[in-house]
Amino acid sequence: MSFVVDVEKQCGCIKKSNYTFPKTFDSREKAEYEALELANKMNAEFCKKHRFYVNKEDDKFTIMVELACPNA
Ligand SMILES: [Zn+2]
Repeated sequence: MSFVVDVEKQCGCIKKSNYTFPKTFDSREKAEYEALELANKMNAEFCKKHRFYVNKEDDKFTIMVELACPNA
């Protein structure tokens, strides 16, 4: 079983960053922790014009973007 962390949409900030998606993990806990960590970091490090949050599905954690990124 693998658990996936992906992003809804790769905005310019993500493309310019060192983050790569999707990421896979062998446990739900790790995937969830990493998704929340990444969303926090992205909120702190990126252009700050948008907010990221994590949407949980069964075996998938999708980082969603709340506001459109001007660097899209
Ligand atoms: Zn951005």
